[in-house]
Parts: sequence; C-alpha cells; structure tokens
Amino acid sequence: NLKIGVVGLPNVGKSTFFNALTNASAAAENYPFCTIDPEESRVAVPDPRFDWLCKHYKPAKEIPAFLTVIDIAGLVKGAASGAGLGNAFLSHIRAVDAIFHVVRAFDEADVIHVEGELDPLRDMEIIREELRLKDEEFLSKQVTELGAAVKRVGHGGNAADKARKEEFAVVEKVYEWVKSGKDVRHGEWTNKEVEVINAQHLITAKPVVYLANLSERDFLRKKNKWLPKIKGWIDENSNGDLMIPYSGAFESRLSLLTTEEKEEAQKEAGVNSVLPKIIVAGYNALQLIYYFTGGPDEVRAWTIRRSTKAPQAAGVIHSDFERGFIMAEVMKYDDLKELGSESAVKAGGKYNQKGKEYVVEDGDIIYFKFNV
Ligand code: GDP
Repeated sequence: NLKIGVVGLPNVGKSTFFNALTNASAAAENYPFCTIDPEESRVAVPDPRFDWLCKHYKPAKEIPAFLTVIDIAGLVKGAASGAGLGNAFLSHIRAVDAIFHVVRAFDEADVIHVEGELDPLRDMEIIREELRLKDEEFLSKQVTELGAAVKRVGHGGNAADKARKEEFAVVEKVYEWVKSGKDVRHGEWTNKEVEVINAQHLITAKPVVYLANLSERDFLRKKNKWLPKIKGWIDENSNGDLMIPYSGAFESRLSLLTTEEKEEAQKEAGVNSVLPKIIVAGYNALQLIYYFTGGPDEVRAWTIRRSTKAPQAAGVIHSDFERGFIMAEVMKYDDLKELGSESAVKAGGKYNQKGKEYVVEDGDIIYFKFNV
C-alpha cells in the first residue's frame, strides 16, 4: 500500500489542502472507509474510463483506485538537527513513497509566515536542504558502519562479505552525491545501485510533485508573479519535477459543496478544481497503474506496479488466482467503448487471451481464468 505525504513549511496550506482532498472525496463518493485517521486519507483516483465502465455495466458495487495521502506536519528550518518535531517528523517522511511539496505563493497579510516575508524560493530551498541534510546524516552513519564491517573482513571473505563490500561502495558513492548538494532521485544509477538505494529509504530519492498554493484571486485570473520563478527554481534545482498551481482557498470552498453546487460554482468561476489532476499526478508519481474487472456485480480498479505480469496482477485479487493462473482474457478500454459490448469486442477479434508472460497495461479490462 503505497503512500504520498504532504510536506511544506508551517502555514503554507498543507492542512487546508489535505482537508479539501478528504472532504471532496467523501462528498463525491461516499466511501465509508475513506478516512482512516486525521492524518491519513484515502481518496478515489478520478478516471473517466472508470466512470464509463460503471455506466456500461451498472454494477451493484463500484470500487475505484485509491491514493493514500498522509498529512505530515512539523517540517521547519533546522528539523534535520532536531528543531520543531525534528526527527519524529522525518521518520514520517521516510515512511512515505512520494511527496507532495506544498509551496506558499499566496500573499495574505493576516496569515503569518514562519520565515517572515513571502518568498516561495527561499521556502523550497529550506525544505530541500532539510531533507538533503537528513539523508546526508543517515548516509554518513551508514558509511561509518559498513566501512567498519568491510574493514574487519579485509581482502578475503565469503559471498556475503563480497556483497557487503559492493553495498559499501554504492553507499559511499551516494553519500558523496548527497554531500555535494544533490538529491538522490536526480542521479543516474545502475540497476544494482538502485537496489541498494531502495533499501536505504532515502528521503531525497522519493518522487516529488510541487503544489504551488495561490490565492483564489490569482488562481482564477491565472496570474501570479511567483509562478514563473517557482517553475524556474524547479527546473534548475529539481530536474524539472512536476509543478501544479492550485488555490487552497478555492479548493477548500468547493470541497464543501454538493456535486451540483460544485458544478455551478466552477461554471461561475470559469475554472475547475485541480484536485483531480493533483490526485492523478500523485498516483503516477508512485509508479502505479491499474487494470479493471467489470460485470454486473462489481466494477473495480486493481492497483499494480508498472510492469507487473498477468499472474501477479491476478494475485492482487486473490492469491488463488495467481497460484492457479491459466490465462488472462483482455479487452482494451478503447475497443469496448468503441464497439459497445463484450460480445461485439469478441466478434471483432479484439478479445485477447494472454499467457503468464503478458505485462498488464494501464486500463486493461481483464477476466482471469484459473484452476482451483
Ligand atoms: P499548514 O500549517 O501548512 O497546514 O497551513 P494551513 O492549511 O493551516 O493554512 C495556514 C493558513 O493559511 C490558514 O489560515 C489557511 O486558511 C490559510 N490558507 C491556506 N491556503 C490558502 C489559500 O490558498 N489562500 C489563502 N488566502 N489562504 C490560505
């Protein structure tokens, strides 16, 4: 169950964003199990394909894909050295798989900024540096520990010792990279190095989506003097990671409306909520995709990692499906939509039987056959 964490300085709009997400999702969908606790929210991933499939099959149950979002408070300047909630906070970040980095670009005299004047670039730099410092500190310890272990072994050693030496070499290399001021995710690493890096749960290795929080006024008129600078900073310092402008105030207001009221408000404003776009971006950052199963009982999206083969994809439904896997019968969404029914897809020769080497694609509609 992969998670994305909401990160940013105090008073930039993290809670507002998190609450808008939670409210919008609860109002629109009414999944009783949506909110797990105050800091964790499961929000439905919006998808017109899913909506169409539900209209098509008219199932008793509709279960979309979900994104799990965690509100992580407490990042302040000096967190890496223990200021604020310091280490507790950083262990929460270590536990998520990707990051929404909220940047404040709304100027509101009555909302105090912890660092004084509004300056999104300074804020982004502070957060980036705190996270990097934490990785640096962690890697420095690893280098010392692994280094000592490797030294004890000396030149000889068995296979495990050899593996440890290789691990040490990678950790040292990543340490040098981070020490030089760079984020781990922006390095070019071999597959072997990636394996070692993944095991370290480094913070700057996690994918980041920047969310630029604008005032409602700026968002509606699509103009804000900081936006080009934020974009420039990201291109220069964050390898062109994705940035999405939104307004916490606007989203917060919309999130409390009914579906009809919301449509009305969006029409009036001439601008739509960007929460759907943000949710999809978060989901993509986690490298997740889903396939569908459809029928009169249930239309459901099943989350898998990219490049998952058919038997393992079936295993997400039930381990029996994987163990007894015979084949996957696969329709493409576009074919079903165009031809209008499963039988038309079959008659058109587009209902495909796939074996255990088939790599499931995003949006596949699958019926698994298996031995019990
Ligand atoms: P957090 O500390 O990062 O969780 O920040 P909050 O979500 O609590 O927001 C801090 C303050 O900024 C609150 O008073 C919010 O109402 C306000 N705020 C958040 N987003 C916006 C926004 O888009 N526009 C304006 N004007 N105020 C906002």
